[in-house]
Amino acid sequence: MTLHKIVIPTSFPIGPVNVYLVEGDPLTLIDTGPRTDEALQTLEQGVAALGYALGDIRRIIITHTHPDHFGLVRQLVERSGASIWTHPFNADWFNNLALAVQRRGEFTLQLFKQSGVPDALIDMMRQMSPVMGQFFEEAPTDHWLDDGDTLEMDGALWQTVFTPGHAGGHIALYQPQTQQMVVGDHLLKYISSNPLIEAPHAPGLPRAKALVQYLDSLKKVAALDVAVAYPGHGDNINDHRLLIAERISFHEQRAERIAALLDQGERTAYQLVQEMFPRLADFDIFLGLSEVIGHLDILQLQGRVIEAPRNGHLVYASQ
Ligand SMILES: [Zn+2]
Repeated sequence: MTLHKIVIPTSFPIGPVNVYLVEGDPLTLIDTGPRTDEALQTLEQGVAALGYALGDIRRIIITHTHPDHFGLVRQLVERSGASIWTHPFNADWFNNLALAVQRRGEFTLQLFKQSGVPDALIDMMRQMSPVMGQFFEEAPTDHWLDDGDTLEMDGALWQTVFTPGHAGGHIALYQPQTQQMVVGDHLLKYISSNPLIEAPHAPGLPRAKALVQYLDSLKKVAALDVAVAYPGHGDNINDHRLLIAERISFHEQRAERIAALLDQGERTAYQLVQEMFPRLADFDIFLGLSEVIGHLDILQLQGRVIEAPRNGHLVYASQ
């Protein structure tokens, strides 16, 4: 066994994040943990327990650009000179972080406004945004892993599997002979991965339909033979097809609940969030909106729901 899980603490509601050290040449780290002293210390200790130093890492693979997964990348590169590998979709988060953050901020503001989120809540979430920014920093790269690209890890050839949905640039890594798969946050054992709505790649492009992408990615991974999946949080997964079937039916049920609410009358996305998840507060509102908008996208694709502008918001209605 040459792939080792190291569990790193985070201050996020999700709890600790798993990163993976793969022995062999080049010594490879998959994901990093957030940019905190505690995370860096834990990673250093975990790597040391396996007989290595952080400076020995030669290659860092990032499954997706959420702060708990890539936050330490710059500090690790500074200490080790490691090369960074990720999906080209994530390029701005490494090479032009200010632009990526600005684009996300503008997009999220517009999304909240059109979803009917109250102004006071928008202001509060805007104030939280710089706080989130402390958990990652820019670390340039020009090494890309696109769908189907292979890389060698400890003598075996691993395939990149593009799995957008939880994040637009999410990748997993698959080794067909041993049927091992590093799945990032695409598939988690105990919780359903949130299909986070993201800003489009460039101004003027439509936003991606994250839940539609996510369900497609689930079906793509279900088609692979996987003996063990190594996730970004929680325990390994040994029955990925069963878990994927559960996730798909969970989303089908949730879409039906939203359809039933819309049968009672038109609503904004924020009104649906309040009805579906009445206890959500702060940043979790964004997670709730991502879920609800994801299901609205699906219901619209199925021709069951239509959206229309109303008083500066978008309202959704059954049809
Ligand atoms: Zn994530």
